[in-house]
Amino acid sequence: MNPEVDIPYPPRSWLQSNIKPLYIVSLLIMIPVWLIASWYTFTSQAQDNLRVQIENDLALFADSLDSELEKYRFVPKMLIMDATLASALNDKNIRYKRSLHDYLNHIRTVTAADEVFLLDVQGQTLASTTLDNQGLNYAHTPYFQAAKEGNSGGFFTLGFNAGIRGYYFSEPIFDSDTDDVIGVVVVKVNMARLERGWPNKRTPMMITDEYGVVIASSVPSWLFTSRQTLDDRSRQAIKNTSKYPSTSFPKLQSQVIEELDAARIISLPKPGYIRVLEVNLPLPQVGWQLYGHGDLNKLNSVIQRNTALSLLVFILTLSLAYVVMQRRLQFQETLARREVNQARLQQAKTSLEVRVIERTKALQDSNDELKQTQTELIHAAKLATLGQMATSVTHEINQPLTAIQTCADNAEQWLQRENYSRVEQNLGNIKKLAQKMATITLHLKTFGRKTDNSTSWVALDEAIYNAVGLITLRCKQEQVELIIDCLPGTEVMADLVRLEQVIINLLTNALDAMLNSSEKRLVIRCQSAGEHICLQVIDTGTGIDPVHLTQLFDPFFTTKDTGVGLGLGLSISYSIIKTMGGELSASNRADTEPQHSGAIFSVRLPARYQA
Ligand code: ADP
Repeated sequence: MNPEVDIPYPPRSWLQSNIKPLYIVSLLIMIPVWLIASWYTFTSQAQDNLRVQIENDLALFADSLDSELEKYRFVPKMLIMDATLASALNDKNIRYKRSLHDYLNHIRTVTAADEVFLLDVQGQTLASTTLDNQGLNYAHTPYFQAAKEGNSGGFFTLGFNAGIRGYYFSEPIFDSDTDDVIGVVVVKVNMARLERGWPNKRTPMMITDEYGVVIASSVPSWLFTSRQTLDDRSRQAIKNTSKYPSTSFPKLQSQVIEELDAARIISLPKPGYIRVLEVNLPLPQVGWQLYGHGDLNKLNSVIQRNTALSLLVFILTLSLAYVVMQRRLQFQETLARREVNQARLQQAKTSLEVRVIERTKALQDSNDELKQTQTELIHAAKLATLGQMATSVTHEINQPLTAIQTCADNAEQWLQRENYSRVEQNLGNIKKLAQKMATITLHLKTFGRKTDNSTSWVALDEAIYNAVGLITLRCKQEQVELIIDCLPGTEVMADLVRLEQVIINLLTNALDAMLNSSEKRLVIRCQSAGEHICLQVIDTGTGIDPVHLTQLFDPFFTTKDTGVGLGLGLSISYSIIKTMGGELSASNRADTEPQHSGAIFSVRLPARYQA
């Protein structure tokens, strides 16, 4: 047989052995990376959102400002169509000055304008809703100059007297005949009115003019500061146009922290403006810049919360991936080990099968050997029995021999006397005696031959009487009373010769046991028991010591002297009866009949009964 090769478990893969440290290292490396990446992503996202929000607010305000400007630009355009104003300009004496003043006042009231006034072609005020303006000359102002050129004018300024921020709209008035400019009508709007659409609460705003001077702001203290240092040309222009009472403005202290694509991060001098996102929107129509601000520090809590949440989700995802991966690897390992276990099991099974086949063959061989030995033993025991029976056999043969002798002598004498009928009678006797001898020798020959242990239905009487034939002489010599109580016609499933061998063995044992008995009686009794027959050999001998009852059928158990008994008779008989499918047992007569001594040996065999 091949020696069993131990199938090893597959070695654990690198990943299987290192999954846990790998997970910890990945966690340690990736957490800071993830943290930084998330922080940047959420910061940029929050800034984008804020920028979009500011842009929307700026656009909304720009729309509102535009519509306000449009509304007031329309007023002087309407006024120039009014013939009253043209007549007033043509009539230098202005006879109905009073009613003109009322008319302009009426216009101012219904349009909610700050001031409405009429200038002649030299820029001299002819009529005004503000009495302080009477007689003043505005020829130097850009809005007058634009109108004098025949165009629409628009100009922001801070009033010298009242210090009110206002926007001036001007339109030229043409002579109906010559089409020359004969005067200019001006409408001034308070800047506060224009700022009405200011979404002050959400997005703080700021407006700078074309020079970078702050003309409107959510932070009042920043008004009339400048975002950049004014050059001389600008200062001169401001001076020439009397735009503001002064030409120098304090610089608004701001610091650009970071320039972004469509915005910048700056710092302005006020709490809440330390780090703000600034978005600007040009207002080309008026040449202004509109600024919107958003406090970036307010975004920090949202950014921190989102980053923490994202980190948590990341760690959970990574841990989940680790658990899933670990389970998967464990499953793979279990599967691989199971496969090895199955292979080992298969190997063990194959090896076991080979062993079983080998052992079975060895057992078969030894069984055959044993059977052979048993057959030899049974045969040897039979020959030994024959040997023991030699005296009886000799006697059985001697008797007819002596009778033949006598008959032959008688026949010879009768022949001399020529009494042929007597001769014939004696020859007939000789023939019968010779036949009897032939029967005895045939029986001896049959008994002595080896049998193949095959069974068939045989007559029980025949086996009994054949056996008895061999012990009759001994019974006579030892004065044993022999009683045979058979059931004629009974057939048993047996090997006839071996059954005889068993019966002879039981009978000779019984005779041995009765050697010293005062009463010597040997009974052979048959009792039917359904599909079996019970053959009993009962003697009046010593009986069996109860201690020996369990050892009786063991090989080499004997109570007889050395050389007398071998202790094999009962053991061989037991195995013969077993092979025939029967039972051999022993008991003492005292068990059932206390006053009697002796043993009872019972043979139980399958039987059938012929009518
Ligand atoms: P052996 O006759 O050579 O001793 P056996 O196997 O035939 O061997 O018998 C074994 C023993 O059983 C005998 O020695 C004897 O003690 C006991 N035995 C057998 N038959 C009887 C009997 N009829 N009565 C008493 N003892 C018996």
